[in-house]
Amino acid sequence: MKNDIHSCRFCGKKIGIITWGVYRKVVVDAEAVMIEPDPDGEEFVRIDGSKVQGREVGYEEAVTAEPAYRPHRKTCGVNDG
Ligand SMILES: [Zn+2]
Repeated sequence: MKNDIHSCRFCGKKIGIITWGVYRKVVVDAEAVMIEPDPDGEEFVRIDGSKVQGREVGYEEAVTAEPAYRPHRKTCGVNDG
């Protein structure tokens, strides 16, 4: 995804586009975060396009954390409200 970084045309933040399968794609925040699996957490997207429920943790917090991307539709300021 490093070659597929753009600026959101609505809010100007850096975004990435993860593609998988044939025509599937999802717009995410460009910066990955570390997450712990949590069924009550937010929805994140892995680099391979699979979805995972989790909560964001610090890099040092947990060895079981994995990197994932937050869907940009949740953070795009322009779409809020
Ligand atoms: Zn945006």
